Amino acid sequence: MHATTTSEPAFGSSGTAPTDGHVHDVLVVGGGPAGSSCAYWLAEAGWDVALVEKKVFPRVKTCGDGLTPRSVRQIQDMGLEGTLVGAHRYTGLRAHAFGKVLDLPWPEHPSFPSHGYVITRHDLDAQVNERAAKAGATVWQGTEAIEPILDDVATRQPGAPLASCIGAVVKDKATGQTREVRARYVVVADGANSRFGRALGTARNRSQPMGMALRGYYTSPGHDQPFIESHLDIRDGEGNVVPGYGWIFPLGDGRVNVGVGLLSTDQRWKGVNTTTLMQHFVAWAPKEWELSDDTCLGPATGGRLPMGLAVGPRVGATTLVVGDAAGTINPFNGEGIAYGYETGRLAAASLGEALAGDGLDALLRYETRLEDAYGLYYKVARAFIRVISRPELMRICVGTGMYSETLMTWVLRIMANLVRPDETGPAEAAYRALSALARLAPESV
Ligand SMILES: Cc1cc2nc3c(=O)[nH]c(=O)nc-3n(C[C@H](O)[C@H](O)[C@H](O)COP(=O)(O)OP(=O)(O)OC[C@H]3O[C@@H](n4cnc5c(N)ncnc54)[C@H](O)[C@@H]3O)c2cc1C
Repeated sequence: MHATTTSEPAFGSSGTAPTDGHVHDVLVVGGGPAGSSCAYWLAEAGWDVALVEKKVFPRVKTCGDGLTPRSVRQIQDMGLEGTLVGAHRYTGLRAHAFGKVLDLPWPEHPSFPSHGYVITRHDLDAQVNERAAKAGATVWQGTEAIEPILDDVATRQPGAPLASCIGAVVKDKATGQTREVRARYVVVADGANSRFGRALGTARNRSQPMGMALRGYYTSPGHDQPFIESHLDIRDGEGNVVPGYGWIFPLGDGRVNVGVGLLSTDQRWKGVNTTTLMQHFVAWAPKEWELSDDTCLGPATGGRLPMGLAVGPRVGATTLVVGDAAGTINPFNGEGIAYGYETGRLAAASLGEALAGDGLDALLRYETRLEDAYGLYYKVARAFIRVISRPELMRICVGTGMYSETLMTWVLRIMANLVRPDETGPAEAAYRALSALARLAPESV
């Protein structure tokens, strides 16, 4: 049960070597924000946790690189903020829409700081993963979990609850050799595509919204701006406003991260080409950023954003699913790093209780914890998405909001999930009214 930094067991000469006989308390599949946070909190609590990550850190990961105060809180709690290298600190959001511009500083909040960071995932994920290893987690990089080891083959059917997983066949990417890693519990943290999760029976609820986003890097004189910038009225080739936003996030090192995100809520948006959308956005962005082919540092890359807890089941008899693998991205703003850290931490809490003797009851509490933390909020977000997917309503909402800084400050607070439970201010009142409506509203689009 104690965290150890075990030496790697020897591989067999060919094929799948038998396990070395050691059974870890927990095996975590994936070393992104969700997996590394889960491994950190388990190791911190003294459990024997092993993490496999198929890439070798530092590795490039397609992302907007924006950390909100929610992410910063988790970075602080892992004891990393003071030593974080390569991060540009910023203080708020500059919102552009329909010709108006508003500067919206992050609000004061008792549980979250009033600043964020922009930092490449190349730098960030390596530091968080290293933190988990320093806390005592056994980390195998360049090691892919290629197949789950199942306890009960009968549960491995589409639509069935998550199969019981007690380890993984892992492959050393450098040598091609495979072996088994066994554990009492397994955490699925393998990101948006989640092949490991799918092999255990997870599926995305296709009636719920999915995001798609594309990003690229540019050199820019605005690289050290104190605000991140969002454009809430991005348009397709015909000039139609689409449900999504464009962003320019300053990295503080001569570069900015530029991207577009789109919500696929409705057939209408499924045909929109994000590459074309990105080209339009770059051409249309304020000239002072100097975005052009000349300042572009390489082709844009993209990915999917499973959101609103749209992926399940998230609990099996020996398995929990965290981060993008569980669809935990905030549908309001496409933020997923904070929710990766938070769900990794919630899973670690439940696993600690399970290992201490509560077994399955403790694992089931993970689902309750998710529901308590995000259930109603994500329901409100899904209702919001249904509204902004209709261009005429989107124009009214965003266009009207942009006339009032006060209103947009509340909206920012709600969208970034920074509403204060201890306050009865207008943002909190607005959120309470929205959540009362969302509770009653049917979920169908
Ligand atoms: C274009 C774009 C822009 C975004 N911008 C932002 C932003 O600015 N701010 C924000 O908060 N969020 C943003 N997001 C969302 C954010 O990137 C994700 O929500 C976040 O990375 C989720 O973390 P995770 O740990 O769940 O998954 P990941 O970060 O995807 O980590 C999963 C890890 O698992 C590893 N892995 C996968 N399969 C295996 C396997 N079988 N064996 C071993 N290892 C495996 C992968 O290599 C990877 O390192 C953006 C997403 C996209 C696509």
